[in-house]
Amino acid sequence: MSDQIQGKSLINGKWVTGSEGSVSGFNPATDEALTPEISLLGAEQLDQATAAAKDAFASYRATTPEERAAFLDDVAEQIEARREDIIARATQETGLPEARLTGETSRTSNQLRLFAKVLRHGNDNSVRIDPAQPERQPAPRVDLRQRRVPLGPVAVFGASNFPLAFSTAGGDTASALAAGCPVVFKAHNAHPGTSEIVAQAINQAINNQGLHPGVFNLVFGPGAKIGQRLVSDPEITAVGFTGSRTGGMAIFHAANQRPIPIPVYAEMSAVNPVFVLPGALDDSAALAEGFFGSVTGSAGQLCTKPGLLFLPVGEAGDKFVAELSEHFNNSHGQTMLTKNIADAWLDATQKLRSQSGVRVAGEGTTGEGRNAPAPVVFETDLATFESNDVLEAEMFGPASLVIRYSSADELISVIGGLEGQLTATFRAAESDFQDVEALLPHVEDIAGRILFGGWPTGVEVGHAMVHGGPFPATTNGATTSVGTLAIERFQRPVAYQSFPESLRPAPVQDANPWNVPQVYDGQF
Ligand code: NAP
Repeated sequence: MSDQIQGKSLINGKWVTGSEGSVSGFNPATDEALTPEISLLGAEQLDQATAAAKDAFASYRATTPEERAAFLDDVAEQIEARREDIIARATQETGLPEARLTGETSRTSNQLRLFAKVLRHGNDNSVRIDPAQPERQPAPRVDLRQRRVPLGPVAVFGASNFPLAFSTAGGDTASALAAGCPVVFKAHNAHPGTSEIVAQAINQAINNQGLHPGVFNLVFGPGAKIGQRLVSDPEITAVGFTGSRTGGMAIFHAANQRPIPIPVYAEMSAVNPVFVLPGALDDSAALAEGFFGSVTGSAGQLCTKPGLLFLPVGEAGDKFVAELSEHFNNSHGQTMLTKNIADAWLDATQKLRSQSGVRVAGEGTTGEGRNAPAPVVFETDLATFESNDVLEAEMFGPASLVIRYSSADELISVIGGLEGQLTATFRAAESDFQDVEALLPHVEDIAGRILFGGWPTGVEVGHAMVHGGPFPATTNGATTSVGTLAIERFQRPVAYQSFPESLRPAPVQDANPWNVPQVYDGQF
């Protein structure tokens, strides 16, 4: 059971009323304002949050893996204890269906528990030990030991479309806390009440575990003011962001203009191409149904939604388009996350309608309630697609574009011209394997996750997941924002040369008191 929502920020364990006025959250299904109003922080109040995070760093970085793991498990438990309130509030604030929010709550707590397991295993230390070789000729080798240390306070920006899993206690927060970094979380104004309940859960776990209250801070305020100041704050050492390309790039540029630049891990936009090869059309009905489901699920508001589908010309492809059109024609709109997002989607689809050589292949009807525009699918040919950049722009919502091609060779050149992507998907049968093999290296160059079969929506949280990719999918394609590798984004390696055993940090000691995996003289 959560405490009552107060519309306040959480700074150093205290609920604080902002000095810069207040705003309402809205129910996108009715456009009605929700209560209570959310008060917005002033600059000095924000500075108190970053100072608290800095203050907490000294003790938090010194916690043992077990202490940190117990904290993450406790956050998961506290979220589960507030499950009903979280889902009720998030349903009002986002228009997302209860079933989707139920799954997302479980995903969020399971994700925290997975990071706890990684800490107990100790692999996040990435220990490498090159023992001294005093007898080595012509010169002796020194003793060198490497481990990873936390960077310091991390600023996290949540996305509108995952009010839990990419928000207050989502992947960026969980991985930063697991790395040993305090967090200042800039709440998304599309789900402020949900953010506050989750912040209550984190704060309760901080109290239970006896941690410094500045380990987690929740701040409310406009991105253009509070968000920019947060990224520019000298106490902040890294940024995790999920959202739009405009927002992500504004933060990336601000971070690079600091006297001391910091890493920004922004996951932004993608159109997630699907390459349908001829053999996959043997069961075009199932393919059309699956594609429709992936494009329109969660009202198409997923960063992995397939926004482009490359389809062979010819009869089998025509049959697929006819089946797909039927799905779209019979569909109804679902409430989108906010009025602004629904309006942005209408603008983007309107722009596509006005491009020459593009036709509407199928379109549904608007849904009940506000902000529920009709799903739509467009069709064009490869030459038109290659000659017009507008056709590659992301439409964040229930829309996609089918592009007809003649041969797999043509796809090689088109892949080379695509921007960086979170995902790319092959739909192919055994008769197409030679073509897939030829296309694969080109797809590797542009995508973070490559699927053979299935659909890209639905991102598994595990050890091998990559939710990243070359720009503009992210600002740093060398890592991932989902999965346990995400911890490394908020750490850096330190090497200790010639340290006596008694002074070595625990994970690099010969005695290995935390029992962490060590790469010893190159051997696992
Ligand atoms: P967003 O607008 O980028 O906002 C994400 C967070 O960044 C918010 O807390 C926002 O704060 C903050 N922010 C935005 N601009 C900022 C700036 N200049 N400086 C500092 N902070 C800033 O993302 P979103 O709300 O999730 O999505 C909105 C639009 O992004 C949608 O219309 C959609 O077209 C597009 N989009 C989203 C995703 C996604 O995965 N979420 C993917 C692709 C495209 P404020 O809201 O207070 O400004």
